[in-house]
Amino acid sequence: PPRRCTVAARDGMDASRAVASPPAAGVDPEMKNWTMDSWRRREALQQPVYPDAEEHRRALEEIRRMPPLVFAGECRTLQGKLAEAAAGKGFVLMGGDCAEAFAQLSANRIRDTYRVLLQMSVIMTFGGGMPVVKMGRMAGQFAKPRSSPTEVKDGVELPSYRGDIINGADFDAESRLPDPWRLLKAYNHCASTLNLLRGFSSGGYASLERVSKWNLDFMGATKKGKSYIDLAERVEETISFMVACGLDSNMPLMKETEFFTCHEALLLDYEEALTREDSTTSLFYDTSAHFLWCGERTRQLDGAHVEFLRGVDNPIGIKVSDKADPADLVSLIAILNPRNKPGRLSVVTRMGAGKLRAHLPDFISAVQSSGQVVTWICDPMHGNTESVNGFKTRRFENVQKEVEAFFDVHEEMGSIPGGIHLEMTGENVTECVGGGAQIGEDDLNSRYHTHCDPRLNAEQALELAFYVASRLRS
Ligand code: PEP
Ligand code: MN
Repeated sequence: PPRRCTVAARDGMDASRAVASPPAAGVDPEMKNWTMDSWRRREALQQPVYPDAEEHRRALEEIRRMPPLVFAGECRTLQGKLAEAAAGKGFVLMGGDCAEAFAQLSANRIRDTYRVLLQMSVIMTFGGGMPVVKMGRMAGQFAKPRSSPTEVKDGVELPSYRGDIINGADFDAESRLPDPWRLLKAYNHCASTLNLLRGFSSGGYASLERVSKWNLDFMGATKKGKSYIDLAERVEETISFMVACGLDSNMPLMKETEFFTCHEALLLDYEEALTREDSTTSLFYDTSAHFLWCGERTRQLDGAHVEFLRGVDNPIGIKVSDKADPADLVSLIAILNPRNKPGRLSVVTRMGAGKLRAHLPDFISAVQSSGQVVTWICDPMHGNTESVNGFKTRRFENVQKEVEAFFDVHEEMGSIPGGIHLEMTGENVTECVGGGAQIGEDDLNSRYHTHCDPRLNAEQALELAFYVASRLRS
């Protein structure tokens, strides 16, 4: 069938079509039927059952009294930037751990991931000639959806690990019991992580001159490696030129940056307990992070997660695999963004390289036909997971291929590739194989630290940023 490519969808400006069509079932633009706890009347998948309901209630009561972690104005700023990305005037970079872990909280780890995200964003800004919106899967990425409620090891069956905000990763009955006081511990971890991130972003750590000091030895002598080194040298030269022209390294432009946080809104009790009514607008914001997404496993049209998210005014995302039905995606977007506000909704596709090439066109054309404005983001991680020598891993090659397919398909469809979403760390781990540094299958056991899915290490993440920059440039 001919692919539709409306100018409206390309410009990301025509809000009239979606509004003009009759509202689909569940669409409630006035939010008349929404309250902070209306999700409780729907089926909530992936929620823990706490052994002591009274303790759980007390822990939530404490969270309700805690100060917000992020502020409504910041969420609105981010939404504006996501709207720009939807229109091709910006690009989104989301990255961080699959699951943050209490035991791995350290200032150096936060700094290293933050630094790599900044380096990637400098490369991509230069490549695309447009601003990069930076979001860390940090300061809140604690709850994990699981494909099975239990896990069997050596004949022993225990509840699955659901993330440090719920239970412990150690394989023993006590650790796997959901503990409500972990909610408070998670909140405190988020507060201290955010405090450091805010310090880095405004206190000079984000200095452009400092951030462009990268080590590209791993790129090697390949043609691709040389072209990336060439690009890096041009970025460095440009920064030196700007400084020589009189752009003082103390100017805010040179040493400050905006940084946002995001996580999957999975554990609804916790998200509800951090939801506050904004005094200036009377809108509700989930103050646990700037951006929240609904995972592939919890995006049912009539489910509790969609019900909760439709009423909070943070910018939100939906993760979509090839298993989704394009018509359902359109209905989901209508429920979550009934007024078709640009920047409100991002669609994060995660299908695997081959499947994305085959299926993404149907999703794009369904959304284009509906007139909905969305920010398309590529998660090249979750559709490319495989098991090697007993380790969950991903091949850099496949990750890059999915990004490549994402750019190709959007180009063919006259649609806008708005960003990428990665599982990555600033550390020198060996969790994904391949890349210029040639992590081999036998290296996996040397520095495999993740509590959940395998992450790109600093070099692999940087290498992918160079690839994205080359695509944004062309
Ligand atoms: C994740 O982002 O870690 C995740 C679980 O993603 P998805 O919902 O797409 O599987
Ligand atoms: Mn993951």
